[in-house]
Amino acid sequence: MVVTVDQIREGGLSLDETLSESFLAHALAEVKDTGFRPDGPALLHVKLQKTASGVLLRGSTEVTVHTPCRRCLADVHLRVPVSFTLNLVSRAALADPKQAGADDDQSERAGSFDLERADEELFDGKSIDLDPLVREQVLLALPMHAVCREDCKGLCGSCGQNLNEGECGCARAQVDPRLAALKNIKLN
Ligand SMILES: [Zn+2]
Ligand SMILES: [Zn+2]
Repeated sequence: MVVTVDQIREGGLSLDETLSESFLAHALAEVKDTGFRPDGPALLHVKLQKTASGVLLRGSTEVTVHTPCRRCLADVHLRVPVSFTLNLVSRAALADPKQAGADDDQSERAGSFDLERADEELFDGKSIDLDPLVREQVLLALPMHAVCREDCKGLCGSCGQNLNEGECGCARAQVDPRLAALKNIKLN
């Protein structure tokens, strides 16, 4: 979705947009396959406010996704809250700071605290394509991996049995590989 800076009035612009399941599916798999898949669409809420140098963009959504458990491969469903503040800086304002200083009162209203904390992104000063920004923020919010439960026992390395469902009876080395390495150290 593209928003033009002209659409942003004095009090800012609030928008609700549905992130379709296919939009999310692409976001999660396009550049690099994260292993996460969306469970359905999500509702994105964004607020845009003009600042001296461009636009302050605040957004929040919650995506529900599923992914195989890292240990036992069972489907894990989880909710991922996504919340971000981006300071969109116009390339023109960056090139000419004097011009940017012309409407300082607007940056006051956007909240200087937010501006200091916000990540900066450059834009053309006229229009903002929300899609790539939102995609990136969804990716940043994902955990590195997921487990079905903290004490998931995983799969047997020999027969593939899901050890959460019971022992398979295979003889498995119970020794932690780090300890095994220690055992090989020769003591004088
Ligand atoms: Zn598991
Ligand atoms: Zn087994």
